[in-house]
Amino acid sequence: MLHCILNPGIAINELIFGQRIPKVTLIERNSTKPLAEKTIIPCPHCGTMHSGLKWTPQNNTAFRNWFGLYCDNCEKTIPCLTNLTSYILLGITFPIWYWFKEKWKKKWLAEQKLKFSKPLSLTQPNFKWRHVGLRWGLFMYIFIEILLPLIEGEGITQKKILIGIPLWTITGLLFGLTMKIIGGKKFKN
Ligand SMILES: [Zn+2]
Repeated sequence: MLHCILNPGIAINELIFGQRIPKVTLIERNSTKPLAEKTIIPCPHCGTMHSGLKWTPQNNTAFRNWFGLYCDNCEKTIPCLTNLTSYILLGITFPIWYWFKEKWKKKWLAEQKLKFSKPLSLTQPNFKWRHVGLRWGLFMYIFIEILLPLIEGEGITQKKILIGIPLWTITGLLFGLTMKIIGGKKFKN
């Protein structure tokens, strides 16, 4: 959890992709089900115990959750954690987005209603190992080649940026392949 709050790379996931982690997550005990199927996300407004698999790529609900996770029972949003970097960026840009927020949220809520009116799949998603690997590679590329040198004051060099592309593509694919070998059935080609 601390990783989600402090890691600046997560801010990109939150602000651009709208991938969020709820403040409260419960895990079913004494169950042989896989972790993803044991995860329960309670709605603080209506008390509904949602399956953690409600907000997944297969339901088209894993991303674009800028206002939180939509509760399809009471139509309110489940509060989520906010990364420290996101907080700072949101604070700085406050005068820009403040005026659009209500309008945007209204539109967003209508979008959620539509998404959740379709039947949702609550089984564990199959991850494509290549996608998982490349996403991880992209994240590492941005974090190690761009953000870290900026934070440490080294500066970004063109060489680093260019070499980083093939380097992290290959490393990402290797990472994905390793995950497939370890994770087995969860991944598909
Ligand atoms: Zn609710």
